[in-house]
Amino acid sequence: MACRVPCRQESVEGSAAIGQYGRMAIQPPAPVLVDIEHLLDSVKKPAQYLAGEHNARQKDWDSSQTRLALCFPDAYEIGMSNLAMGLLYELINDDTPHLCDRCFTPLPDMADAMRDHDLPLFGWESRRPLRDFHILGFSMSYESGNTNVLEMLDLAGIPIERIDRADDDPIVLGGGSAVSNPEPMADFFDLIAVGEGEDLLQQVLNLHAEFDRSQPGWRHDFIAAAGRTIPGIYAPGLYEPQYSEDGAFLGHRRLRDDLPEKIARQYVDIDEYSGPRLPVVPNTGVVHDRIAVELDRGCARACRFCQAGYLYRPVRHRRKDLVEQAVDRCLTATGQSEVSLLSLNAVDYQGLDGLINNVYDSAEDYVRVSIPSTRVETFNVDVADALQRGGKRGGSLTFAPEAATPRMRRVINKEISDEDLLETCDMAFQRGFRTIKLYFMIGQPTETIEDAQAIAHLANRVMALGRRHHGKRAKVNVTVSTFIPKPFTPFQWHPQDRSDAIRAKQQACFDIARDRNIHLMWHDPQESHIEALLALGDRRVGRAIKGAWERGCRFDGWMEHLEPNRWYEAIEAAGLDLDWYIHRQRDPDEPLPWDLVDIFVSKRLLQREYQRALAESATEPVPAA
Ligand code: SF4
Repeated sequence: MACRVPCRQESVEGSAAIGQYGRMAIQPPAPVLVDIEHLLDSVKKPAQYLAGEHNARQKDWDSSQTRLALCFPDAYEIGMSNLAMGLLYELINDDTPHLCDRCFTPLPDMADAMRDHDLPLFGWESRRPLRDFHILGFSMSYESGNTNVLEMLDLAGIPIERIDRADDDPIVLGGGSAVSNPEPMADFFDLIAVGEGEDLLQQVLNLHAEFDRSQPGWRHDFIAAAGRTIPGIYAPGLYEPQYSEDGAFLGHRRLRDDLPEKIARQYVDIDEYSGPRLPVVPNTGVVHDRIAVELDRGCARACRFCQAGYLYRPVRHRRKDLVEQAVDRCLTATGQSEVSLLSLNAVDYQGLDGLINNVYDSAEDYVRVSIPSTRVETFNVDVADALQRGGKRGGSLTFAPEAATPRMRRVINKEISDEDLLETCDMAFQRGFRTIKLYFMIGQPTETIEDAQAIAHLANRVMALGRRHHGKRAKVNVTVSTFIPKPFTPFQWHPQDRSDAIRAKQQACFDIARDRNIHLMWHDPQESHIEALLALGDRRVGRAIKGAWERGCRFDGWMEHLEPNRWYEAIEAAGLDLDWYIHRQRDPDEPLPWDLVDIFVSKRLLQREYQRALAESATEPVPAA
């Protein structure tokens, strides 16, 4: 079999494809400034801290204009699987005069060792302390990374709260879907980028390069200029939240008249950006060890619980030839054997089967193509057959019906009949897939215990189909998450179920799904409550985030690290009423902390969709905003 990892010669040739600044990207390594080698014998997975991976960029420190450390508030193995991190890293290094290094959250054992030895957190490539960078850009994909932001700042010796930072501290910037409601993290970020990062980040770095950092007060001037002149940039220190005497949120007051009243979410033309080009090949195992290429951004389907469906409008499908070129380039540059075609809803991509077939026609035999979970009703035989071409017979397919009764599927606006779902699963089993994965969500508006039990009944029926085709080798994996009312969705006004109600539904479902080849997976309700607080909170929630971190909370998305009791203590110590934030029916007219962000979908439309949900009435894909 051919070697799957290209030799260094091939990779240098490959770099000819990258931008004008990419050519200067391959430089001798910068001097090692933070010496961690002597710590590596005593920590888990030491290779994650070493950098120097295949395709990693080493841009010249001194000649670069703005020096950015792109920070991911989770471990290397997660951050290296994050699409945005990879795209922004190569974009800034290859196409701009700025430098982009990477940083991830050290696992607790490494963090302890660094504190014991008085070593600061550093940029992976340069090994320079994070304090030496001009800007730290945190990529926030999920709220459970919030405490890790504080952990990373503290390890770097940078004040955690923006109000305590001085002119010689880096600017701390946050961006990503987890800060689409920016308020809970507003005390910690100097600037928050609202929307897609490709253009926004370049504008921030360019503006920074114009400032003379030796001038006293430059930091304040830069933050104000960014908030005033770059659409999509929010400077939280220049907006003051207002509350009534009884603590209700009333809105924001601008501290300067020249600031925008609303922060307009930014979007890019994804055909303009050709990444990934030369993805960095991780040094150690990561959660998604494969090439990820975007098919599109946005989704036309308007499921009422789905924040991504509303945030990433309008839907933008990427040109097929650009997808194929990216796949081809990345396979050559990395030697990877799996390509994932990323999309919120891949089966809505026109000509998906032809695209998959083209990839298989031009790739080596060992390459396998996958798509993320998908809607059932548009999945078809052609796509199933195309996916099966490269896989071992017996692979898996993932569907996300999200609710198990037709009534609930009308409520959430994900209308499919049980018959369609079962027919599709039958077809998939028949085409050779042995495992069907199903995603459901419990706790959505109007749900009864019978609706939750229906999840298990449906899983049993899918299992029966699997047994008919594959006997004991058939499997059905069911993941049941807990509904979290998310900002910018029709369900943003709806209360989250309490723990006892969630547990009762989980148990009712568990009692019915008894086949040993049906694997049921749940989320802990307490974890979902904390996530709801972080999604729906106002600026006061920042006190709870800081209190939780001070009590030792980190890696809150990891079951083995989550400490709900410490979180509950921190929430209480911050004087916050969790019930008020997450279990309360919100009034349609009350101001919401995220109202200052404009995603170009009106509140009136969201409220109308909410009422239609309660009336069990479906809506056609993407109603006009
Ligand atoms: S199909 Fe529905 S749940 Fe899936 S991304 Fe689109 S809107 Fe969201």
